Amino acid sequence: MIPALMPTYRRTDIAFERGEGPYLYSTDGRRFLDFASGIAVTCLGHSHPALVEALIEQGRKFWHCSNIFTIPGQQEMGEKFVRDTFADTVFFGNSGSEAVELGIKMIRKYHHANGNPHKTGIVCMRGAFHGRTLATIFAGGQESHIDGFGPAVQGFRHVAFGNMNELRDAIDDETGGILFEPIQGEGGYRPAPDGFLEAVRETADEFGLLVMLDEVQCGNGRTGRLFAHEWSDMTPDIMATAKGMGGGFPVGACLATEEAAKGMTAGTHGSTYGGNPLAMAVANAVWDVLTAPGFLENVRVQGEALHAELRALVADYPEVYVEARGRGLMAGLKLADNLETRQVVDFVRERGLLTVAAGENVVRMAPPLIIGREEIDEAVALLRAAAEELMAEERDVA
Ligand SMILES: *Cc1c(COP(=O)(O)O)cnc(C)c1O
Repeated sequence: MIPALMPTYRRTDIAFERGEGPYLYSTDGRRFLDFASGIAVTCLGHSHPALVEALIEQGRKFWHCSNIFTIPGQQEMGEKFVRDTFADTVFFGNSGSEAVELGIKMIRKYHHANGNPHKTGIVCMRGAFHGRTLATIFAGGQESHIDGFGPAVQGFRHVAFGNMNELRDAIDDETGGILFEPIQGEGGYRPAPDGFLEAVRETADEFGLLVMLDEVQCGNGRTGRLFAHEWSDMTPDIMATAKGMGGGFPVGACLATEEAAKGMTAGTHGSTYGGNPLAMAVANAVWDVLTAPGFLENVRVQGEALHAELRALVADYPEVYVEARGRGLMAGLKLADNLETRQVVDFVRERGLLTVAAGENVVRMAPPLIIGREEIDEAVALLRAAAEELMAEERDVA
């Protein structure tokens, strides 16, 4: 018999009762250091006083009204994005998938508005993840995500992540845009090669294409800059973000330049809940913390400390950990081919550390951006213990 909850997840039986800062407490009384953050979502940890306050304060006033009314919190958040990013304009939605989906629509609409309605194609990267709506699964292109869900949403072509030759070859007269994550998330915390973002920008300009970045996971301070592309020398035309943006409250946004959004006139897009007063109260509070003086500087410092420790693990246990990757507090450890991520993820979870598996046999860590050196040391000690255990098991087998 099918369970009451549609069985689309492989869940563990741990349930949480409350959280505080970087820690979560389970209903059976255990404490977990949360280096998963609900997959890079709870960027300020759990129960951050400023976020709790913002939510309660708005909750007492009113929760929701339609987007046919003026929503001051939305205006305020939109102006912050315009002030602090490449964008001239923003649309608020509820999730990462919706933000990406709008970006896809915007690429088509842009060329339509320019009298080139045939330019509907988008070049995407292998190993990408863009969400679980019908369009975004075909943009991502993962076999396990699209199997059985055809007919395919048309127009997506995939090239090797970071490969400019393949990318240029994939462009034809019907291409309208290029979509990728500056650092692949689900794909295994894989940063694009140095210079790739700039090269994509140059090629897009040459062919009159829009560049859309998916910063749903790597954005909102995760890498030590507000958005990961700020480590490069380019700006996109369109950018989707979500995850960390609400610190755990469901909210997302699609940002764009004035030029890229030129087809988006009244009635062309909408969302019932998108940018409602509750979501905006929290998103504004998150943004104010992220942009406070010194906050991102500390993310960079802690990120460097974490990466130095992960590189030391790779040096000390090359039979277990073969590569440390990512940027800032988006950190991955790639395991040796003969190991499976769950061997490490389960081992450290049983001892009080939450991590998440990702593609390419990577254990990923996305700790809250408020962590300090002590939490890093606590996590690294458990990853070290996991390596010792796995090597002891290997010896026993041998
Ligand atoms: C999580 C994620 C999405 C999808 O976000 P949802 O909120 O689950 O719809 C899209 N792109 C990237 C890079 C993601 O990490």
